[in-house]
Amino acid sequence: LSIEHPLGPGQAVPLEPDQAHYLFAVMRLEVGARVALFNGRDGEWTAEVVEAHKKRGILACVEQAAPQLDPPDLWLLFSPIKKERTDFIVEKACELGCARVLPVQSAFTNSARIRQDRLQAHAKEAAEQCLGTFVPPVEDLQPLAKLLEGWDPSRRILWADEALVGPAQTLADLPPGPWAILIGPEGGFSPAERASLRALPFVTPISLGPRILRADTAVCAAITLWQSAIGD
Ligand code: SAM
Repeated sequence: LSIEHPLGPGQAVPLEPDQAHYLFAVMRLEVGARVALFNGRDGEWTAEVVEAHKKRGILACVEQAAPQLDPPDLWLLFSPIKKERTDFIVEKACELGCARVLPVQSAFTNSARIRQDRLQAHAKEAAEQCLGTFVPPVEDLQPLAKLLEGWDPSRRILWADEALVGPAQTLADLPPGPWAILIGPEGGFSPAERASLRALPFVTPISLGPRILRADTAVCAAITLWQSAIGD
């Protein structure tokens, strides 16, 4: 369970009403049951239910189950697509190991706005699912051009470029990082966007193989390649 409260030996952790509902009404946990907790700072803790009510409850930390892990030094920039597929992208990016998710608007982006709160909730669920000790922040939608204008070039961008027809690239020769991955919308990037990406010294285009992948597949493939070559 992802929570805000500090975690430590014997620490009492009061639950929010929705968390109490989930643990006691949905999961049917009772006093004495064990729950895994993390808050993004103190690692993963095993806690015991000491009070269980319909809309409130208290857990007590018993022992640290895992130390706090540094999030992988990888960000994802992607252009939102249909709602469910965008949810999928955020979920899988967080499971596969991204530290920050930045939805970007480009010329052919399908939607002009996103439900950031909904995507952040997916990031939280994904972190809980894969026993991460950190919930990656999901930013609001921002124009790609503006983001690139203010970009700190010390974080290089791996641009998955479907025009590079060929075998999936090995990333083994890339320097360790920090890195961000950029995936385009269903319609790809416009010729003008492609020209400006090509001109940026901190952008490295890569191929994900000879087939044109759907954007959500491309996200999974690119993060997996990065993880196998550079990640942890
Ligand atoms: N509209 C483009 C077309 O028809 O040629 C395809 C865009 S593709 C559905 C969505 C995004 O996935 C692309 O912008 C790119 O970032 C990524 N992508 C898909 N297949 C790829 C590949 N084989 N290599 C690199 N990137 C790929």
